[in-house]
Amino acid sequence: MAKHSAEVVIEGLKKILIKEKEGMDEEVQGKVEMFIAEFQGSMAASGHQHDPDAQTLERGFDFFKNKIFDKNPEFFEALAKKQQPRFLVIGCSDSRVNPPTILNFNLGEAFMSRNIGNMVPQFDQLRHAEIGSVIEYAVKHLEVTNILVMGHSHCGGIERLMELPDPTLTHDFLDEWVKIGLPAKNKVLEQCNHLGTEEQKRLVEKESVKNSMANLLTYPFVRNAVVNGTITLRGGYYNFDNGTFQQWKLCTKPMP
Ligand SMILES: [Zn+2]
Repeated sequence: MAKHSAEVVIEGLKKILIKEKEGMDEEVQGKVEMFIAEFQGSMAASGHQHDPDAQTLERGFDFFKNKIFDKNPEFFEALAKKQQPRFLVIGCSDSRVNPPTILNFNLGEAFMSRNIGNMVPQFDQLRHAEIGSVIEYAVKHLEVTNILVMGHSHCGGIERLMELPDPTLTHDFLDEWVKIGLPAKNKVLEQCNHLGTEEQKRLVEKESVKNSMANLLTYPFVRNAVVNGTITLRGGYYNFDNGTFQQWKLCTKPMP
């Protein structure tokens, strides 16, 4: 099966080479040829002495293996049998906001989906199968008891949302994706148009978390779990300017 997949990749690359050879930059062409050779196994897979990025990966895993994995055999034995995370965390892809680092989650504690701007779109089987399947798996199979949408300061996704519409620069995916947060942007611009741009962005970052929490309720299995009280929807905001974390939750109990 794996061999079959590799063959498909090689065939695809060869087709690109044949089709694009005329207009292709020599350097790019060389890289594609080298990639094909590596895939075919004609180049040595070992020896990372000239590849600092591969060394970073190797050293990183060595650290984890020696200091964590080998020192906790019982923990990893139990984890190998089953995962039972209490949290589904929807966080941003931003490299500075890794939820397990910031919230000190251990392995097995948080199922995770990370995307640009930590956004949850409204339920749509045709357009959003990727995030939909993460939420569905977490709720139906792992039976998480919390869903946390975690926003953060200086979010590039929110920054792009604020720039739209932008006729000078378009993206294949990004602009359409961040538009999920439009209701949050519109609300802040309507209510806080007296504020400066940076202040507005910080507010939209928070309001967008609330928008995603509301969108989570459009997933029937999430809505049912929230109504039944088996899942709590939580919002969080990590500000790395001042090192603070705020959190709030959706209250479903009727007010007295
Ligand atoms: Zn972000």
